[in-house]
Amino acid sequence: MNAATAVRTNPKYAWREVKRADPPKRPPTERIADFREIYSLFDEETVRKQAGRCVQCEQPRCTIGCALGNHIPQWLALVAEGKFQEAAEIIFSTSNMPEICARLCPQERLCESMCTLGEKSDPIPIGALEKFVIEYAFNRGCVPVRRVAPNGVSVAVVGSGPAGLTCADELALRGYAVTVFESKNYAGGLLVYGLPSFKLEKSIVDRRVALIEKRGVTFRLNTAIGRDVTLDSLLGQFDAVFLSMGAHKPKPFTVPGAILKGVHQGVDYLVETKLGPAPGAPPIVLTGKRVVVLGGGELGVDCLRAAIRSGAKKAACIYRRDLDNMPVSHREYRNAVEEGAEFIFLASAVAVEGDSNGNVRQARCVRTRLGNLDAQGRHEAIPIPGAEFVVPADVVLAAYGLAVTPFPQKGEWSRIAVNDSGAVIVDENHMTNLPRVFAGGGQIFGANLVGIGIRDGRSAAQGIHRYLTVLKAAA
Ligand SMILES: Cc1cc2nc3c(=O)[nH]c(=O)nc-3n(C[C@H](O)[C@H](O)[C@H](O)COP(=O)(O)OP(=O)(O)OC[C@H]3O[C@@H](n4cnc5c(N)ncnc54)[C@H](O)[C@@H]3O)c2cc1C
Repeated sequence: MNAATAVRTNPKYAWREVKRADPPKRPPTERIADFREIYSLFDEETVRKQAGRCVQCEQPRCTIGCALGNHIPQWLALVAEGKFQEAAEIIFSTSNMPEICARLCPQERLCESMCTLGEKSDPIPIGALEKFVIEYAFNRGCVPVRRVAPNGVSVAVVGSGPAGLTCADELALRGYAVTVFESKNYAGGLLVYGLPSFKLEKSIVDRRVALIEKRGVTFRLNTAIGRDVTLDSLLGQFDAVFLSMGAHKPKPFTVPGAILKGVHQGVDYLVETKLGPAPGAPPIVLTGKRVVVLGGGELGVDCLRAAIRSGAKKAACIYRRDLDNMPVSHREYRNAVEEGAEFIFLASAVAVEGDSNGNVRQARCVRTRLGNLDAQGRHEAIPIPGAEFVVPADVVLAAYGLAVTPFPQKGEWSRIAVNDSGAVIVDENHMTNLPRVFAGGGQIFGANLVGIGIRDGRSAAQGIHRYLTVLKAAA
């Protein structure tokens, strides 16, 4: 069937004739030799046929499944007609960085899991279609710059991850003079120095940052607020300050043996693959090593796949629940398996054991079984007494997730109210207990998905705008 036929097909029934397709992927042997992205784009004909499978539900659930409430059926209908630019404009109306969501969102748990077609056939490949449409718009220079007249009000954004960039973008679109302060020497947050490039290449983030800059946002890199510039001085220079400093503190790894040589935090290893070793620290070398990764989230599976690319002899993940309950996207799990990673489910590390030189030699684990649901709605992983076993290891990477970096107990940060986890407390406008200081992203809810950070950046921009216009005027 060619593209013309796809247009003629009644959308209600196209799915019966056209099976779901997934975008082309480089073969595992090729992709483990580098850190480049593994997927390429659909061709135009496939894109139109795949979009034409959408049955255009009257009450689309895919939109509910999207953190940003993207108008998915509307733009899919345009894609099926070959109107890619018009489709891109609909996507841009609800998403500040769709090219990044398309690459990173676990669509099979979000929009695609809600697709009605999933009940009768396979869901629409929404993420891959979105990526095609947005790359189409970028490649033709059709992504709007949309500069607006200045409104004379200024906002400082602290941190340039997805939440900070989105908030800056949204405020600039309302005429605010926005300056983003970033402690690193590039913008993008964890998208750049946390996530490995095989999921998202830095050039994609750089392209988005350049666009936000064209929209009038100023970036001050290498500037840590609290170290190089005080919060109070920002409050003196700007009408409002938005804190979006993320959640970067690795959850502690405290089992016996955790201090052996060869035991590292997984996030430190990932950062090193991007930025080189931390100042004064020896490099983390995985070439020819047996690597054991503890934890089954995005962080853990990214560590596994990066370890394979760094030449590890073996890369095994130990996860305390089963595959169905593993937090990582199953797409990334399948990619990891194709690349040679091993998974040991229903097991948890209880100690790390080493040789007489203090080098790690194995992870001691215990088998687990699933128990009742906990407060977060996840099954407890209950250790089975006496069911211990060992996994040989030259390197152990702990990847139990990231939490909010607590504010120092003294000094100006200590004035900002936080909860028991150190997350900043905000009101319905995203304002902290300090007037004119707002917060959002990982800093208020801990580690989460990029789509949630973008949604939060958008709602923070609305809150800041509301405060600076309506509420301040009434005060
Ligand atoms: C390994 C890994 C893999 C991931 N994979 C996925 C995935 O596949 N899909 C997905 O949806 N999400 C994924 N995520 C989560 C995603 O990266 C985060 O949700 C997102 O980056 C959070 O955005 P943020 O803006 O809140 O914070 P961040 O991205 O953390 O950005 C915060 C920024 O603030 C800066 N900063 C901190 N303190 C200061 C200061 N004092 N002054 C100035 N600047 C400061 C930091 O340098 C940083 O640039 C992953 C995360 C990790 C770590």
